[in-house]
Amino acid sequence: MVRTGIDFVEKSFNRGFASFGTICPLACNHCYTFMKGYNTPKNDNINDIISSLKDDFYDIIYVSGHCENFINPMIGIELCEKLFDKFSSHIMITTRMIFNDTEIARLKRLQTKMNIADKRLFVCSSIPAFDSYRKLEPSALTPSPADRLNFLQRLYSEGFYTFLTLRPLFPNYYIPIKELLNIIELAKDYTSVVLSSGVVVSADNVEKLEGFSRQEKYGETLMNCLHNPDVKVQHVDVSKELSEINKKCNEFNIPMFNESLVAVRYLLMFENNNSTKKHFKIFSDYVQAINGDFKNLDKIINLNNSVNKNFWVNLKKEFV
Ligand code: SF4
Repeated sequence: MVRTGIDFVEKSFNRGFASFGTICPLACNHCYTFMKGYNTPKNDNINDIISSLKDDFYDIIYVSGHCENFINPMIGIELCEKLFDKFSSHIMITTRMIFNDTEIARLKRLQTKMNIADKRLFVCSSIPAFDSYRKLEPSALTPSPADRLNFLQRLYSEGFYTFLTLRPLFPNYYIPIKELLNIIELAKDYTSVVLSSGVVVSADNVEKLEGFSRQEKYGETLMNCLHNPDVKVQHVDVSKELSEINKKCNEFNIPMFNESLVAVRYLLMFENNNSTKKHFKIFSDYVQAINGDFKNLDKIINLNNSVNKNFWVNLKKEFV
């Protein structure tokens, strides 16, 4: 049932997930894929992944989920190329890895091909901490946050849509919020958006997160994406931390989101251009409309191209 503008956005995309099924070698301490009961599909190669996507058409495919797909960036990029050849959809990749010049050039060729078809390639670089990142990411394979920021900068200057992904977000006592605010400050001129949302925990990852309080109150929920309904996780209250991130993003005119599809819907409203600062005035109208305050909806409808206009006209029919 569609209850909010956010549901409406999510239902407006047919989203697919594409990921290798190997046990992730980065083994982050917070990772949900290591929780008991987590089901990883047997996707050993690119053909397996493509066959696991059952629909003929997807609006967007996320290359993320069950493991880090860019341990070898060339293989991850090849996966993206084959996905685009088959589905011609938008693609969002999420990674903690960094790419060298040859790999960036190959990704750029894919982006050019996608742009000709009016599709976009979104690249999320996950950086959940700065100085204390080893509390979460103990693997020597995981690049430092500073290297990931350089990578984000390289991609942005090559015209990619970049998502500075401050996920998962931890309470201030565990990962100081000033680290995240510092990351935003460092990335302020080369991220299209900021994406952040709270960590989910179970006994399995809390055990690995040394010093994480077991006494906190969590709401319990089932993991409802990635076909893992049997994994029970709990949310941690990070509302204060999110509001600080939001404040910092506003200071630098960076759109900040908690849900990735809501960010994608926002970015699709504009001409293909990864710089979002010049549209920042419309951002608050967008957030209001998505949250059920439609007083500026007509402004948004008039701004949009025909594909997106239909989305907003339908949203108006549904809610106004
Ligand atoms: S890189 Fe992603 S999938 Fe791999 S362990 Fe870390 S959070 Fe989990």
